[in-house]
Amino acid sequence: MPIIRRPRPHTRNFAARRFVDSAQTIGEQAIILQMYHAANVNDAAQTKCTVCWDSVYQQNSKSNCTECYGSTYENGVKFTYRSWSIWTEAQDNEKYTKRGEYQPESRDVQLEAYPEVFQHDFLIRVTRWADDGRTPLELYPWRYVFTSGITDAIVHTGGQLSQGDQDRWGQRASVSALTRDHTIYSYPISLVNPYPRKSGPPS
Ligand SMILES: [Zn+2]
Repeated sequence: MPIIRRPRPHTRNFAARRFVDSAQTIGEQAIILQMYHAANVNDAAQTKCTVCWDSVYQQNSKSNCTECYGSTYENGVKFTYRSWSIWTEAQDNEKYTKRGEYQPESRDVQLEAYPEVFQHDFLIRVTRWADDGRTPLELYPWRYVFTSGITDAIVHTGGQLSQGDQDRWGQRASVSALTRDHTIYSYPISLVNPYPRKSGPPS
């Protein structure tokens, strides 16, 4: 008779720990801007943006809204978190066309399991952190948006197919650098206050 093992949280925790260890060597900490999303039912209670949301036509009337950063929800940004990340080399190097237009750079990035990221969330690279490792001192000049293709990094434990929180140790995602006219560049990032890291599944 086969031995059915129980799922083992410590296996997931070990994989998550190993990722952070790797990121501390070959990666960096980044700041995730988790946005309100129309597709997320939990966000439905959030007030719609009073600047751009047209309640009659149920659409945003302003494409580059500085109040909600295009999310159509008041304030736009739900949470900001720090996460360890490992970036791949740019798929196309940063380049400009003959007319001086910026061609967005695409990259793949690995992140911790939490916070869970969604398409249209934003990612900010930090070039220098304070000694506390939590307070950004200097930001990389580009802002990135999560594009499609966000996948969970999982380990299988307990000899069963499960893709619940107990198996997630990280995330893999594609990001694109945004052109400077995007409103998210106006979102204020504090260079004085520490940013929290979100560890573990939501309670
Ligand atoms: Zn708006």
